[in-house]
Amino acid sequence: MTAEIIDGKAFAAGLRERIAGHVPAFVDATGRKPGLAVILVGDDPASQVYVGSKGKATVAAGMESFQHVLPASTGQDELLALIAELNADDTVDGILVQLPLPEGLDEAVTVAAIDPAKDVDGLTDANVARLANNEAGLVPCTPLGCMMLLHDRLGDLTGLDAVVVGRSQLVGRPMAQLLVNANCTVTIAHSRTRNLPDIVRKADIVVAAVGRAEMVKGDWLKPGATVIDVGINRLAPTEEGKKGKLVGDVAFAEAEHVKAITPVPGGVGPMTIAVLLRNTLVAARARAGLDPVEGL
Ligand code: NDP
Repeated sequence: MTAEIIDGKAFAAGLRERIAGHVPAFVDATGRKPGLAVILVGDDPASQVYVGSKGKATVAAGMESFQHVLPASTGQDELLALIAELNADDTVDGILVQLPLPEGLDEAVTVAAIDPAKDVDGLTDANVARLANNEAGLVPCTPLGCMMLLHDRLGDLTGLDAVVVGRSQLVGRPMAQLLVNANCTVTIAHSRTRNLPDIVRKADIVVAAVGRAEMVKGDWLKPGATVIDVGINRLAPTEEGKKGKLVGDVAFAEAEHVKAITPVPGGVGPMTIAVLLRNTLVAARARAGLDPVEGL
């Protein structure tokens, strides 16, 4: 049996196209484009790349991109004042604060200041509670993207055994909640879990969101499992001084016996930005009093 490769890049491109297709109707109805504001504090090079990509994708989808780049020396009050300004700005439908923030700034306080109706990262308490109660709300982009890939591949997930390795606010916890809401039987594993390989071996669906290169070995995966690898890890530079390869949390080369698996890169990564655009459109339509778009 040869594992099918889940092409997240192609799926994300299709999703971005569908989102862009819905923008003109929004413009017709409201006289303006959906707007996404991204706040970057400091000069972390990886964050700069992510924010740049988000801005480009937003414009490519026909939406308005507002980028606010603040120095690392920005104080908490100044950051909160900017968020308050964006909360009150009617042309802004989504607000995303690029994490991690530099030292001295409190992430929880910062996220809590975002209007839940504009919280396109789905991190405010109001949206976390909605997800826990299986009510409509804004859901974190990466786990929602993983769900889209799973539904596309497996259809109805009812009754399947799922293991999520990782319990972060951004990925592991909301992922587990989404799987429960989809009627899976879910185990959440983390750094204190005992017998992790045995737990993973029972799963029909494995989601690895750990941040440890190729930690999940091939013999941890049951034949026929569907594997979603969220991890992005850069291996050490080669001896010739070339940049190290990007790998996931799953030993991809050992997973030929599974049903399907996302590659790294080209699996979950491209879904995150596409879902951010989706969440921006969803937030924009809800704020404008328009019905949700079916199937987005
Ligand atoms: P965090 O560091 O916030 O969380 C990692 C989780 O993994 C924690 O819950 C931790 O457990 C658990 N963990 C750590 N070591 C082990 C271990 N040995 N065994 C079992 N569990 C372990 O990371 P994130 O959730 O933010 O991200 C996870 C990965 O996903 C990273 O590689 C990140 O780069 C990537 N990522 C990719 C995205 C994409 O767009 N594709 C988006 C976001 C993240 P504990 O809670 O006990 O400490």
